[in-house]
Amino acid sequence: MCPFNEKRAALALVVTEVSEKEVDPYWELFLFSENIKYNIIEEFTLNHSSGHVYPHKIDNIYFAGNSGGVIDPFLGFGAMSSVIMGVMAGRSIATGKDYEKLISNIVKSNIRLHEFRKVFDMSSNTAYDVLMSSIGVPGIKHLLYYTPFNVVKTGGFIMKYIPKKKK
Ligand SMILES: Cc1cc2nc3c(=O)[nH]c(=O)nc-3n(C[C@H](O)[C@H](O)[C@H](O)COP(=O)(O)OP(=O)(O)OC[C@H]3O[C@@H](n4cnc5c(N)ncnc54)[C@H](O)[C@@H]3O)c2cc1C
Repeated sequence: MCPFNEKRAALALVVTEVSEKEVDPYWELFLFSENIKYNIIEEFTLNHSSGHVYPHKIDNIYFAGNSGGVIDPFLGFGAMSSVIMGVMAGRSIATGKDYEKLISNIVKSNIRLHEFRKVFDMSSNTAYDVLMSSIGVPGIKHLLYYTPFNVVKTGGFIMKYIPKKKK
């Protein structure tokens, strides 16, 4: 939910791997299950594609943000990395440094997060709930928020070796 002011907000639902025609029942189910009864002023559906991009630079064209495949495959975050890629594109232009090297941490992190997504896609709603609530458990919370432990790096490595079901 993205608020515009105290009375209005944009409510977005992302449904993965369905066609535009199939999306309406998911929207209805979402409104029903979350008991959302607000006055809806406008609705629209967008087809959204994201994925890995390579190379990130062709001649003098730099691909940064969404156009550079920035959206993380696990939870769909991309705002911070988009800003960082923009800064790195500027730095590469100004200093001649290799853009691909400057953004390699973002690219590596997304490859690791893809492993999270593959495991996440196999999980049930109950497993999601357990995972989300476990983040707040003392000890786990401390590890995640107050130590330099790199969840994405370690988790991505472990998840790579979890056997995945074929679709
Ligand atoms: C529903 C949704 C929820 C999201 N939630 C989160 C979140 O909670 N946290 C997070 O980190 N990320 C989130 N993201 C992802 C994040 O918004 C994007 O990764 C990020 O905004 C990408 O930034 P960008 O500058 O590359 O592209 P954009 O923000 O898409 O900016 C591109 C701009 O270029 C303009 N444009 C396009 N074509 C042209 C043209 N020909 N001429 C001129 N202008 C043009 C567009 O109108 C747009 O304003 C979400 C994305 C979606 C769709």
